[in-house]
Amino acid sequence: MTAYFHPLSKLARQKSYIDGQYIDSTSGEVFETLHPGNKSQICEVEVAGENEVNLAVESALRGFEEWSGISASARSKILFKAAHILTQRNQELAELETLDTGKSVSETTVTDILSGVEVLEFYAGLAPTIGGDHLDFPGEGHAIMKREPLGVCLGIGAWNYPIQIALWKSSLALACGNSMIFKPSEYTPLTALKLAEIYSQAGLPDGVFNVIQGGSATGKLLVDHPLINKVSLTGSVGTGKKIMAQAAGSLKKVTLELGGKSPILVFNDANIENAVNAIVPANFYSTGQVCSNGTRVFVQKGIYAELLSALEEQTKRIIVGNPFNENTDMGPLVSQMQYDKVIAYMDDARASKARLICGGKAYSDESMSAGYFVPPTILADCTDDMKFVREEVFGPLMSVLSFNDEDEVLERANSSEFGLAGAVFTQDLTRANRVANALQAGSVWINNYHILPASVPFGGYKASGIGRENGKSAIEHYTQIKMIYTSLSDIEPCY
Ligand code: NAD
Repeated sequence: MTAYFHPLSKLARQKSYIDGQYIDSTSGEVFETLHPGNKSQICEVEVAGENEVNLAVESALRGFEEWSGISASARSKILFKAAHILTQRNQELAELETLDTGKSVSETTVTDILSGVEVLEFYAGLAPTIGGDHLDFPGEGHAIMKREPLGVCLGIGAWNYPIQIALWKSSLALACGNSMIFKPSEYTPLTALKLAEIYSQAGLPDGVFNVIQGGSATGKLLVDHPLINKVSLTGSVGTGKKIMAQAAGSLKKVTLELGGKSPILVFNDANIENAVNAIVPANFYSTGQVCSNGTRVFVQKGIYAELLSALEEQTKRIIVGNPFNENTDMGPLVSQMQYDKVIAYMDDARASKARLICGGKAYSDESMSAGYFVPPTILADCTDDMKFVREEVFGPLMSVLSFNDEDEVLERANSSEFGLAGAVFTQDLTRANRVANALQAGSVWINNYHILPASVPFGGYKASGIGRENGKSAIEHYTQIKMIYTSLSDIEPCY
């Protein structure tokens, strides 16, 4: 690979988007965002301070008044229009996402924007149906249970799916009649701003979706703000714990989409080809930076050697390099911090008793070290106690472990602090369902992986999170129920 340059590479200084426009920050601080493929600066971004946070909250309160006061079908039309504009601009937005995250355009053009649009369309369609219930007490009265929005909601995003996370959170919040302030990760601040522009273009009233730029200090200012009623984070377990503790100060409602270390269980009778075709992307898509990746691959002893060799064969076909090349499968990791972390896990794995099948160390090639590139890595004969098997690596590192029987593998698969996802590969329908029921995870696939339709709730058990995104049930997390009781009888004296 030779050094490369993309026409989008240099952008003007970026700002926060508040009340339908870009606002100069008064904090005096900036941070820079880099292209992970060549470590060159894309632009500086102004950090939002207390002043901008207050402006955003005031604007979001006004936005909420207006947005919650119009009919759900009018809201739905605006959200559908935004989905249409996003789809039309998919290529351009995907290239911007590739520039900021380093993910290959072969992924961002088919997944990042479009999987966000799918959820936006789902909630746009659902908006006019969001309502409450009615309970009758014959001769006495009746109660109506209204479903009302929460007010100003805060979304805080991770860097691995920047626009998708912004879309998943905002489409749900807005369909329920709330306004949202969104803070993207300081590593990937760009595409949330395009989303804000597109919402405005689609007719969203000013203030209904504001984007605030900055890192954890700005996030903390937002979480502490008393007029924000809810916070939804996508991020690491450590940040989730901090935000939940901070949010307790003002008793905000909290939903958390956190990390994972998900198991894939492959039994002797599995269709090996299907299993391999699912397991390889379940580890290496998005350069392994996916929360629900199936990074602990448990293989029953009878097919261990055969499956391992098929995994190796397919993994060695992965093309790593310039993420703007259409034939590239895997781009770089997102940042120096993530690169150092993943290389440290690879070093640790090489020093362990696990057997290195491929990858496993930094590239020596100069053009690859010009960016945060790491090779797709498989370690076999792993044991449950190894550090890289227990902890979330968030990079392209697959651990393969062998097992004898169902009870043993279930106990091992479940002995993790995480519980985001999991899968079972077998032709035995009874076993498949028994194992799926026993796995402690929010999403379980039988004979597949990472199928995530917008209508299906997504979220974690145990340390992997609280609450769900997507699907009808997530509406519970962005609305509150008001009971209005109408009396139809006279009131007898009490004393
Ligand atoms: P992170 O926790 O470092 O940061 C996430 C966001 O929180 C960033 O915007 C950051 O600025 C903000 N933040 C950090 N400290 C804060 C504080 N004290 N108050 C307010 N905001 C604060 O996570 P990351 O490194 O950006 O993302 C990787 C993690 O995200 C992984 O653990 C991954 O599994 C997880 N993730 C989970 C899902 C899911 O849906 N379950 C999806 C994607 C990523």
